[in-house]
Amino acid sequence: MIEELIRPEIRSFIPYDANQQPYKIKLDANESPFNMPLKARQKLSEFILNNPGLNLYPDTDSVKLRKALSEHWKVDYRNIIVGTGSDQLIQILANVFVGPGDRVLYPAPSFGMYADSCIIAGGTPVKYILQPENRFEYSKQTILEAYDKEKPKLVYICNPNNPTGNLMPRGDVLEVAGYCKDAVVIVDEAYAEFCDDTVIPDTAEYENLIVLKTFSKAYGLAGIRCGYSIAGPGLTNAVNLARAPYNISSLSQYAALLVLEEKTEIAQNISYLVNEREWLSKELTKIQGIDVYNSYANFILVRVDNCREVYKKLCEKGIFVRIFGASPLLENCLRISVGIRQQNTVLLDELNTICYNK
Ligand SMILES: *Cc1c(COP(=O)(O)O)cnc(C)c1O
Repeated sequence: MIEELIRPEIRSFIPYDANQQPYKIKLDANESPFNMPLKARQKLSEFILNNPGLNLYPDTDSVKLRKALSEHWKVDYRNIIVGTGSDQLIQILANVFVGPGDRVLYPAPSFGMYADSCIIAGGTPVKYILQPENRFEYSKQTILEAYDKEKPKLVYICNPNNPTGNLMPRGDVLEVAGYCKDAVVIVDEAYAEFCDDTVIPDTAEYENLIVLKTFSKAYGLAGIRCGYSIAGPGLTNAVNLARAPYNISSLSQYAALLVLEEKTEIAQNISYLVNEREWLSKELTKIQGIDVYNSYANFILVRVDNCREVYKKLCEKGIFVRIFGASPLLENCLRISVGIRQQNTVLLDELNTICYNK
């Protein structure tokens, strides 16, 4: 009976299946290997011991956090919206703009939430393909042509793209935003700290441009579920229409604020991981049967001979990387999050053993 009550377009959904097995090295979810900075942890524990006010609802507008973010990015705090992860902002964008008959243009292969949120809102997702033969590079032309043909309400660019790691140059992103005047252009910059490229300052000029950011990756706070959007006043007000009250817990707001204060340590962590990414990419290239895609993020996509077998053997050793089930564009691909040197070395040793003994 319940089955028939479910909206038909949702029936075939499969709940997100995060690997929950015991692991030795976890390189499957693009998390940061670094703990929350010690000073931030101390301040958070003082906050909890002293007067956390957890009997009260949190600040529904996350004002302190938004003001700190506004200083960090040099934008008006009123143009920032905080969400329970940037995932929530993706959902809100769909709920505000997408209804039956509306289209959402999004890259493939990329992040699954763009299509899912569109379907849940009742809209029609339309993908533009990043060609494996072209190393998954974005093609501005492909997006503009799809825009003319499909007339979408939302256009997604994931930059750098998850899981392929490639980057669309800022000039091209702005050309897309300038061309797609009747759509909201959403640039998901979840990994942009790892390449130091952003269109955040451009949101002042492009009223249809919105940038999504998260504390989950470069800031090492995946556990607190906190993300934010930056856009002009028109778009920001629109997104706020469907934001639930009190959507960020007080603890998350405060934890994010404290980590934003540890700029030096965060910058060090980022540059460490960028350095490791370059080293790990180079080392992976040396292994027989592995094709390495260039990455601007904190993960590396590889195409591997006998991928399933390699994946299984890594799992047996307690080393988790990401494999992509049903996606034909990502056949034989693994996504490896960059860890600390010791983790990366263990991974390389195991891969070497597996690839030369099959
Ligand atoms: C991880 C990720 C996010 C979401 O992060 P939250 O944890 O929900 O803030 C958004 N977009 C992409 C492309 C991601 O990989």
